[in-house]
Amino acid sequence: MLRLIWLLLIILLVLVIVQIRAAAPPRTYLITVPHGACSDPIHRDCDRAAVAAADAVERTLEAVLTQTLDGNDKDFRIVRMNYTDTNVMRKMLDMNRTEARGSEWRRRVDAFIRGTPRLEWVIDVHSFPASAGGTFAGMNLVILDAGHGPRLDSQSEGMSTPRMTTARASKKNDILNIASKANRRAVLVEFAETLDQPGLERYAAEVVRGLDLSR
Ligand SMILES: [Zn+2]
Repeated sequence: MLRLIWLLLIILLVLVIVQIRAAAPPRTYLITVPHGACSDPIHRDCDRAAVAAADAVERTLEAVLTQTLDGNDKDFRIVRMNYTDTNVMRKMLDMNRTEARGSEWRRRVDAFIRGTPRLEWVIDVHSFPASAGGTFAGMNLVILDAGHGPRLDSQSEGMSTPRMTTARASKKNDILNIASKANRRAVLVEFAETLDQPGLERYAAEVVRGLDLSR
């Protein structure tokens, strides 16, 4: 009888372990595009290359994660949140600013950042026009506010690929703020709108290469 009880206990223990393993959430990566909704082909009212750049980042990240994660911990998911509402454009309400916190899109983004277990990275993707000056002049990739905590060390120190730089944003990026407060690693990347498709792919690879994907 005692032996039977032991056997049942062991079976129960095994079932509990199997259950816990199955319930472990996958590593999650969030890519946000707050300025991707374009309504006007002439006036600049959006980040014109941001969606294409985010696509390139997503493809590269997926390929790299598929290659590098292995064993019992290879499950991952990449979640994309593009802002798409052309009725409320950036000049009315900028989705990357504090004022937008109550909007439907931001409520979704913020809740996801705060509530998702194992959210490894938040990658906020933007683009800038050829006319952009200051830090952006002549650059193909600008990484803003890497000092929020996470940083792209390989770029900021190595600079092996030309026309990339890190800089401080002139205004606070609120998606990064939310991520920072929730103790999530986050980065804001700005791609030049002059880049062609191979250029976008190349610099997307630089972004992914700079992320610490190991933990
Ligand atoms: Zn932007």
